[in-house]
Amino acid sequence: MAVNRIGPPCPECGCLVTDVTRTNRTAEGHFCRRRDCPSCGHHFQTVQHAEIVAPTGTVTWRYRTVHIKWAHFRKHLAKLVA
Ligand SMILES: [Zn+2]
Repeated sequence: MAVNRIGPPCPECGCLVTDVTRTNRTAEGHFCRRRDCPSCGHHFQTVQHAEIVAPTGTVTWRYRTVHIKWAHFRKHLAKLVA
């Protein structure tokens, strides 16, 4: 059992430390995980979207900060999942 210390938080209690009890990858490249919260015992699932190419000009890097033009990016993403 793996422990995820980054998140996402438990939707019931907000605990940031959750246990990943199972991971699988869909044919499209999405990662699906079953998680257990050690604090309240809640079980939940997460989906991590497959890595995609960001359209040119959507992502801007400044030193250690990254800015995403979400309006443009969401339109691109909507085309991919439609
Ligand atoms: Zn919890």
